[in-house]
Amino acid sequence: MQTSWQQQLRSIVGANFVLEDAAALLAYESDALTLFRCQPAAVVLPQNAEEVQAVVRVLHRFQIPFTARGAGTGLSGGVLVPKGGVILCLSRMRRILSIDAEKRRATVEPGVVNLHLSQQAEALGLRYAPDPASQTVSTLGGNLAENAGGPMCFLHGTTTHHLLAVDVVLPDGSREFWSSLPEQADDLDLRGFLCGSEGSLAIAVGLVLRLIPLPEQVITVLAAYDSVPQACSAVSAIVAAGLRPVALEVMDQKAICAVEDSVYRAGLPRDAGAVLIAEMEGPEALLQRETPRLEELLQKFQPLHFERAESAEQRRLIWKGRKGAGGALGQLAPDSYVMDGVVPRSRLAEIMAYVEEVEASTGLPVANLFHAGDGNIHPHFAYDARDPEQCRIVEEAGARILRRCLDLGGSLSGEHGIGLEKQHLLREQFTASELALMQRLRAVFNPQNLLNPGKGLPMPRGCAEAFHRHRRYAHE
Ligand SMILES: Cc1cc2nc3c(=O)[nH]c(=O)nc-3n(C[C@H](O)[C@H](O)[C@H](O)COP(=O)(O)OP(=O)(O)OC[C@H]3O[C@@H](n4cnc5c(N)ncnc54)[C@H](O)[C@@H]3O)c2cc1C
Repeated sequence: MQTSWQQQLRSIVGANFVLEDAAALLAYESDALTLFRCQPAAVVLPQNAEEVQAVVRVLHRFQIPFTARGAGTGLSGGVLVPKGGVILCLSRMRRILSIDAEKRRATVEPGVVNLHLSQQAEALGLRYAPDPASQTVSTLGGNLAENAGGPMCFLHGTTTHHLLAVDVVLPDGSREFWSSLPEQADDLDLRGFLCGSEGSLAIAVGLVLRLIPLPEQVITVLAAYDSVPQACSAVSAIVAAGLRPVALEVMDQKAICAVEDSVYRAGLPRDAGAVLIAEMEGPEALLQRETPRLEELLQKFQPLHFERAESAEQRRLIWKGRKGAGGALGQLAPDSYVMDGVVPRSRLAEIMAYVEEVEASTGLPVANLFHAGDGNIHPHFAYDARDPEQCRIVEEAGARILRRCLDLGGSLSGEHGIGLEKQHLLREQFTASELALMQRLRAVFNPQNLLNPGKGLPMPRGCAEAFHRHRRYAHE
């Protein structure tokens, strides 16, 4: 008698690591974008690459759709599977297998939490540069799939600049190693192709990552301004002057106050319309030369407050405030819709003025904290997802902001991906033939569309809505 797929999965990972109970599955029905949700038929928690491979083979044989999941902090609905599908949660695969200090490389499993790698490498004088604000929770596998960025990526680049090689399981259960390591580089940069593909080409089961040295010296400066556009103008001036800070981050007043009312309190000035955090790092000689120029430019825009962190503790506090701000904003309303769009840096002040205009038209509070140096904006709409009307308002407002990003020469996503959230706008950024090419490339690796179906590329009309929390309403 043929055994069911559920029985086969249990025999691979053990019965305790196949979740089918509705209460247990509840935690897996969405990621951090709670507008979309769908309960999987099961969640499997493999503990190594061989188990992932065996699980995928079973799912492929039974033609069951499946999706990999790291920590579920994604913000575009990327981890949802359609009804009847299975989630492979890789959080048990959290071993840092080796750190080669001489070659400055780490070999890790995909479920390793981002920050844990830097914490472990610190003793060797090294760190992992991409530092998403979610780095205390999000996994390196999820970071790879979304090509995650973070405050420090302005200077050091995003995940794709730090992924050297990757061990993958393809949707049919076969296994490959895609590398750009000098000693075994592939002709085609499949490693680069995978990075940012939103979990729809292959499952990463092992990563080789570049580590960089800890900086010789760091200088962190905080300038508080009257308004967000003023802080953005300072950012544009710094970039135009050819300075290369490691980070240029902006937070508006709502974000400042939320931080100050939370456990992330950092002593930020509540009276400011915005704070700009600028950080320089490198050899002492470079910093001595460049910091005065940076500070001069920050002063030019007449800050209300200006301070240079005098100690490591003060610097830690400033970053605690910035990185905790997303969580702190949870106080404002039951739900948060965190948008992600990009504009050329020279257009930052314009897009932020437009965000204010959109906020006024919605009647819902919008807080802003974003990677200004990269032109990557993140308006946070505070709303109640139980109310279909508020969902409609925030989604339509989000689409208006993204359309304006495109009008200003920007892009639909900087780092959170397209997922389910932004599919309806893709045709406004790409031509039909560009999208068809992307579909064809995906089909080379995922021909039956079993792995993470329906994410990142347009689906037939109505499909994305099937995952929607409430109902189908036009985004137009
Ligand atoms: C408070 C907060 C702050 C954030 N700040 C940032 C930020 O500063 N920068 C930034 O870039 N993002 C940020 N994010 C978004 C999110 O943390 C990132 O997208 C992160 O990379 C997701 O990692 P994860 O482990 O949670 O992945 P998940 O949400 O579990 O999955 C995300 C996608 O990756 C795929 N995936 C997961 N693991 C694998 C794997 N091993 N192989 C193939 N595909 C896989 C999934 O199928 C899914 O499509 C933030 C999110 C929150 C909630």
